[in-house]
Amino acid sequence: MNKKIAVIKGDGIGPEIVNEAEKVLNKVGEKYGHTFEYTDVLMGGCAIDATGVPLPQETIDICLASDSVLLGAVGGPKWDTLPGNLRPEAGLLGIRGALKLFANIRPAKLIPALAGACPLKDEITKNGLDLVIVRELIGGAYFGERDTHVDENGVKHASDSMAYADYEVERICRVAFDMARKRNKKVHSVDKANVLDSSRLWREVAHKVAKEYPDVEFQDILVDNTAMQLVHNPAQFDVMVTENLFGDILSDEASMITGSLGMIPSASLGEGTLGLYEPIHGSAPDIAGQNKANPLATILSVAMMLRYSFDMSEESDAIGKAVNEVLADGYRTGDIMSEGMKCVSCSEMGDLVADKI
Ligand code: NAD
Repeated sequence: MNKKIAVIKGDGIGPEIVNEAEKVLNKVGEKYGHTFEYTDVLMGGCAIDATGVPLPQETIDICLASDSVLLGAVGGPKWDTLPGNLRPEAGLLGIRGALKLFANIRPAKLIPALAGACPLKDEITKNGLDLVIVRELIGGAYFGERDTHVDENGVKHASDSMAYADYEVERICRVAFDMARKRNKKVHSVDKANVLDSSRLWREVAHKVAKEYPDVEFQDILVDNTAMQLVHNPAQFDVMVTENLFGDILSDEASMITGSLGMIPSASLGEGTLGLYEPIHGSAPDIAGQNKANPLATILSVAMMLRYSFDMSEESDAIGKAVNEVLADGYRTGDIMSEGMKCVSCSEMGDLVADKI
C-alpha cells in the first residue's frame, strides 16, 4: 500500500522524535511492502517564525489531502508571551477543528518492564492497568462561547461555556462502545450530572447509545469519583468516555500512573480514516536538540496510525512487540532510566526498535 503522511515536526524535541518514528515506519514499509510518503508542514512556534501564524492554511490543506497526520510537539518559552490566538497551542486546537477530529484516543497501559516507574503501590497495580480514554475533542469548554469583560463597577468577569449538542455526544459514545467491543467490553461514561446540564444531556445520550450495545457492560461515573478510582483501583476500567475538559485532566492522571510521559501515544479521529497521531507530552524545551528525548511515545503513535487509519493491525502489533522487546532487553532513555539498565540516546532507541521489526 502507498500512504501519504503529512508530518508536523513542530518545536523543541519534535523533530528528533518524529525522525525516529519515520525510521521505524520505513522499516515496517520495507518488511511488509508498503510505501510511506512524507510531506513536512509547519505548525506551532516554527510556523509563527516562518509565516507569522501558528497554523498556516497550507498546512491544513496538505493535512486534508493526506491519508494521515503525524505530529511531534509544539510550543516553547520563545512564544509564551504572544497573545492566546497567536500562540503555538492555538495551532493544536485549530488543526483538530479543521480536520474535524472529534475523538481523542489515549491508551494508558502499564508495561511490565517499566512497572517500577509507576508511582502507585504494588498492591494497587497488582491487577495491571490497561485502559483507553476516549475524550471528546472539539466541543465543551475549550470550544464554547467565552467572554472577559469589566462591568460598570470596575469588576472584571470571565466565563467559558461548556456546551454540547446531542449528536456530538452520540458520535463519541459510539467510538467508545465500538472500541470496547474490540477490547474487554466495558464502558464507563464520565460526567458531572449531579451539577451540570451539559452532563445531564451527556448521560441521557450515553444511555441511549448503550442500549444498542447490550454485549458491552456500561456504567455512569461522576468525574470526581473517577479521579479517585483511577488511583484506588485502576484495573476496573477498560474504556472510559468523557467530555473535553474532564478527558484532558483524567488522561494526564492515567498516563502518570504508567510512569512516563515519554511512553504514551495518542490518536485523534473523525468520521473517516484521516487521523492525527501524536505523543501526549510536550516539546520538552529543556532537553531539545540534545538527542536525549524518549521517542517511544511517537513510535507508538505511528503504531496507532497503522491500526486506526491504515487498517494494518499486524504491522501495528509488530511495532508494539518491538518496543516491548527493546525494553525487556534493558534499554532505556534518560527519562525512564533505572539501575542496571542501559541508557541510550533518542536515535539509538529508534535504531533498536527498527532493528527488532
Ligand atoms: P513537556 O511534556 O514538554 O515536558 C515536561 C517534562 O517531561 C520535561 O522535563 C521534559 O523534559 C520531560 N519530557 C517530555 N517529553 C519527554 C520525552 N519524550 N522524553 C524525555 N523527557 C520528556 O511539558 P511542559 O514542559 O509543560 O511544556 C513544554 C512546552 O510544550 C510548552 O510550550 C507547552 O505548551 C508545550 N506542550 C505541547 C503539547 C503538544 O504539542 N501537544 C502538549 C503539552 C505541552
